[in-house]
Amino acid sequence: MEIVPGVHQVDGVNAHSFIVIGSDGASVIDAGLFGSVKKIIKYVEKIGLKPSDIKTIVLTHPHIDHAGSLSSLKKATCAKVAIHKEDADYLSGKKKQEIKAKGLRPMLLRLLMRFMAPKPVEPDILLTDGDRIGGLTVIHTPGHTPGSISLYDPDRKIIYVGDALRYVNGKIQGPPGFTPDPETAKRSIKKIADLDYEIMLGGHGDVLRPKASEKVREFYSAL
Ligand SMILES: [Zn+2]
Ligand SMILES: [Zn+2]
Repeated sequence: MEIVPGVHQVDGVNAHSFIVIGSDGASVIDAGLFGSVKKIIKYVEKIGLKPSDIKTIVLTHPHIDHAGSLSSLKKATCAKVAIHKEDADYLSGKKKQEIKAKGLRPMLLRLLMRFMAPKPVEPDILLTDGDRIGGLTVIHTPGHTPGSISLYDPDRKIIYVGDALRYVNGKIQGPPGFTPDPETAKRSIKKIADLDYEIMLGGHGDVLRPKASEKVREFYSAL
């Protein structure tokens, strides 16, 4: 679905994958779980683009629901892959992602990660806080992973927050329970709350709009 002109959320892909058309070409934010590449490419073509028009794939973080289709999407588009430098070794497979939390969901995730680890991809671009990529500003928002990022589009007044926040059933939520560093994640929510935007797009859940930054500030002050 089209969020605003030039910004699309690919339907039926988990986690959400976004296509963003900027002045220097189109980018994809997050590549979805395994098997998402056909849906993403179909969507790209539906809006009149060629796969090769996708110049960059930016990952908010390297969990399998965001990077499962990365390797095949990179192949299909020849796009450059960008990720925050602190998550790069997880993407390339040099370091293993671990989920230490107890409980059923973390346990299932551990199993899922063991059997469905995303194909390692060597990133082309290592990001740091404040970098610009595909017309978006990189905001380092760690906690959920060390190199989690949000991507801020000040012109369109949109923020992409990955798994730092989500909007579900009319309520804003913080990162999921297996997040290893909740205190750092909370500081990252503050960082997100301090920016100005109308629309917040999380990796999961619904579109938060209008006045999204006001609502995130309210959410943060109640934490
Ligand atoms: Zn995640
Ligand atoms: Zn996720």
